[in-house]
Amino acid sequence: MNIVIIGAGPAGVSAAETLRSLDLKVEITLISREPFPPYSPPLMAEYFLHGGDLIYWRGKDLPEKLGVNYLSPKTVKRIEPKAKEIHFADGDTISYDKLIIASGSTLYAPIKRKIKKVKSDDPTAGFHNFKSLSAALKIKDEIKAGKVKTAVIVGAGFIGTEIAIVLNEMGVKVTQVEMENRVMPRMLDEESAQLAKQFLEKLGIEIRLNTKGLEFFGEEFAEGLLLESGEKLYGDLMIAATGVRPNVDFLKDSGLEIEWGLLVNEFLQTNFPDVYAAGDCTEVPDRVTGERYVHAIYPNAVEQGQIAARNALGEQVVYEGAYNMNSLKHLGIPIMALGTVGGDETLTFYDGKEVLKKIYLTAGKITGVRLVGDIDNAGIYFSLMVQKKEVAEFKDLLLSPRFNMAFLHDRSVVAS
Ligand SMILES: Cc1cc2nc3c(=O)[nH]c(=O)nc-3n(C[C@H](O)[C@H](O)[C@H](O)COP(=O)(O)OP(=O)(O)OC[C@H]3O[C@@H](n4cnc5c(N)ncnc54)[C@H](O)[C@@H]3O)c2cc1C
Repeated sequence: MNIVIIGAGPAGVSAAETLRSLDLKVEITLISREPFPPYSPPLMAEYFLHGGDLIYWRGKDLPEKLGVNYLSPKTVKRIEPKAKEIHFADGDTISYDKLIIASGSTLYAPIKRKIKKVKSDDPTAGFHNFKSLSAALKIKDEIKAGKVKTAVIVGAGFIGTEIAIVLNEMGVKVTQVEMENRVMPRMLDEESAQLAKQFLEKLGIEIRLNTKGLEFFGEEFAEGLLLESGEKLYGDLMIAATGVRPNVDFLKDSGLEIEWGLLVNEFLQTNFPDVYAAGDCTEVPDRVTGERYVHAIYPNAVEQGQIAARNALGEQVVYEGAYNMNSLKHLGIPIMALGTVGGDETLTFYDGKEVLKKIYLTAGKITGVRLVGDIDNAGIYFSLMVQKKEVAEFKDLLLSPRFNMAFLHDRSVVAS
């Protein structure tokens, strides 16, 4: 059997590893449009600052180790699921018995461009982003050439915040523009976001909330950003970090069902039985709320890659749903977000300085957690949340210093 995987990010790599671990004979082709060995996007900030090979987190020689046919750089232009064919931008065609689409997500920049000499149809041409290693290296080249003293970043989500911290550490004066009323608005509630903002400002990053960027302008490359207020911000480096969107444009005439991302059943199978999908390109239900959306985080991509691979080999493994969780690694304080914000009841602990903990309860169960400054019990809260355990009876102790795993064992909430 010949299995093809489109995309060599965490989802595609975990699919390839799973296939090989279960079947020594299956022919595997892994396709990447990036001109590098498979790499891990969460390690890009580390790579940016310190270099090294850690970014190739499964080893630079992963394709050889797995005995995988690695096509890179090679861009898939379209697929024909009825003919089981993949067509590349360079005119080549290959066929497959089973296909796993793991094409990930791309920068979503709903911001206009008035850059006179940019002719490309690529909506991200003319300014920088930090969504892929190719894009990140373009930023690094500018910095190495000594051209960058100032930067403007549109968007203060976690990717925008990560690049802001990295550039700041490299001596660049950063201004971050966010149209919402807080930083990392999809990850944090107002109070935890306020603490995070204070930390960012203490590092020297300027943050402008409730500020909407309308248009990048310039001659050959973006030189400035026009704000809704009419004000113009100038910088040596203009970066969009306005969110991500599933990479599914190349599939639009394929007959595959797509809404925001690819639609799949509980086996991560698309409407074509031999085509599976995994990772940021896919819409899946949330494990806690059941709501279906694209859960663009690393552990979800890896688990989905594993399950899609097993099912492509003929197993019938049900995907239980994605986790909503995220952490910020580079701020100097730990921040962890699990599940949703809001519920019937909010439990709060604040030490008046750097530690803020919030637990959201719905019908006596944990449905969300936000931790700033102390994430020691994150794993316990997380397992109570995903196992949907009743916590109403001891909710007053959840944020107490006495609360730990032994406490739960004593109460038989979890098995010893
Ligand atoms: C800077 C940054 C930091 C992050 N930090 C964290 C973190 O701390 N924790 C966390 O959980 N998540 C983090 N994430 C999110 C995490 O990286 C993603 O959820 C994860 O990479 C998704 O994996 P994926 O394989 O689905 O997609 P991707 O990593 O996007 O990989 C998909 C690959 O497919 C390729 N591809 C797409 N279309 C085609 C085509 N037509 N032909 C050929 N190849 C194609 C793409 O070029 C890409 O290399 C971060 C993301 C970024 C950008």
